Amino acid sequence: MSELESFRQETRAWLEANAPKSLIGLQMTELTGVWGGKKWAFSSDAEKEWLEVMGDKGWTAPTWPTEYGGGGLSSDEAKVLSQEMKALELPPALIGFGLTMIGPTLLRFGNEAQKKEHLPKIVRGEIRWCQGYSEPGAGSDLASLQTKAERDGDDFIINGTKVWTSYADQADWIFALVRNDSSGIKQEGITFILIDMDDPGVTVSPILLISGKSPFCETHFTDVRVPVKNVINEIGAGWTVAKALLGHERTMIADTFGGAGLKARKASERTFLPSLAVEHTGEVDGRVADGVIRDEITQIEMDSRAFALTVQRTKDAAKAGQEPGPESSMFKIYGTELNQRRYELMIRILGPDALGWEGPGFDEFALDTTREWLRSRGNSIEGGTSEVQLNIIAKRVLGLPA
Ligand SMILES: Cc1cc2nc3c(=O)[nH]c(=O)nc-3n(C[C@H](O)[C@H](O)[C@H](O)COP(=O)(O)OP(=O)(O)OC[C@H]3O[C@@H](n4cnc5c(N)ncnc54)[C@H](O)[C@@H]3O)c2cc1C
Repeated sequence: MSELESFRQETRAWLEANAPKSLIGLQMTELTGVWGGKKWAFSSDAEKEWLEVMGDKGWTAPTWPTEYGGGGLSSDEAKVLSQEMKALELPPALIGFGLTMIGPTLLRFGNEAQKKEHLPKIVRGEIRWCQGYSEPGAGSDLASLQTKAERDGDDFIINGTKVWTSYADQADWIFALVRNDSSGIKQEGITFILIDMDDPGVTVSPILLISGKSPFCETHFTDVRVPVKNVINEIGAGWTVAKALLGHERTMIADTFGGAGLKARKASERTFLPSLAVEHTGEVDGRVADGVIRDEITQIEMDSRAFALTVQRTKDAAKAGQEPGPESSMFKIYGTELNQRRYELMIRILGPDALGWEGPGFDEFALDTTREWLRSRGNSIEGGTSEVQLNIIAKRVLGLPA
């Protein structure tokens, strides 16, 4: 038996012995997944238990080195773990920006003390992170950011406002871009710094979204004192870190919305859209009655499958130590458009059932789908708009003149 095959058997046996049975088949989405952190309220003991056993084994971050709490698995072993979890219909024990954004960034740019302090807490889901990039005057043109960091001995004093900070009200720490110098070109003089949300002077106010839910916040910093040791990479060299993190973010968004983690994909993945269409639009000879809807379902399923495989290839390369490059912009556009297409189709299939907002007369699934459809409009904005991704592809992938 090959080493990988025996690893597969051990993994399956371990998962069968340790995963709470009540979690089998449960869908983990942005809304229902476990994000962890000090403020997290588990919806069941089983979720808590699952996070504890997976965190102890380092399998919430399977490829991170064991000295930082990770699983120390090779990319092939991590793939086996993910396949076995899928086969047993087990949800991930933990999701969030710690695992997908700041963790990989710390592994590359953090110093030893920073890695030792933050990575194990991410693996165990003890600390939840949010992202402080955008500002009222700096979104696509991120380098125009104005949040000011003034040096005072061993600290920076930070003043300014971040906007669209997803889940800032739930987070324990924020990774933020601040301006320490305005004298040179705007990409210089930016510092990437880690800030404890409990520090005096940090305040958060929620912003409501079109979907009626509010993961969004404005985050204000008023004379917040942050130790210089919290700077990642050199002072003033934050732009390099910021771009590398965006590569991880775009791959994560593409994967979450367009790839394998899609909410719309139920356990009975391939039969989900057809059975929804049969239920709401009728059936002829065992097939979806409406030929146009049938065609669109087939197209979306083919595109989703092809896309998931392409993203998987890049993830394999990333696990082998290669960082996501500008090609993550292609995935970001395609994945988010795919997600928007899927929700448009679901809304058309649901017809009048998708018109509900709350209250009796509409089932929970339809209400949820309508809100998720509205939420999907933000996919082509978050992590950098589609127009900005097209600019990146033109310049950095195709090498076209600026
Ligand atoms: C769901 C969601 C979650 C988010 N979460 C976070 C978060 O956690 N942390 C965070 O920091 N930010 C977050 N954001 C903010 C997001 O990164 C910004 O909204 C995004 O970068 C766009 O910036 P903006 O909103 O200022 O739009 P603008 O930059 O003002 O853009 C307005 C329009 O102009 C277009 N445009 C701008 N520049 C160009 C150009 N050079 N070429 C062509 N077209 C252009 C854009 O495509 C867009 O259509 C989130 C956004 C969303 C929707």
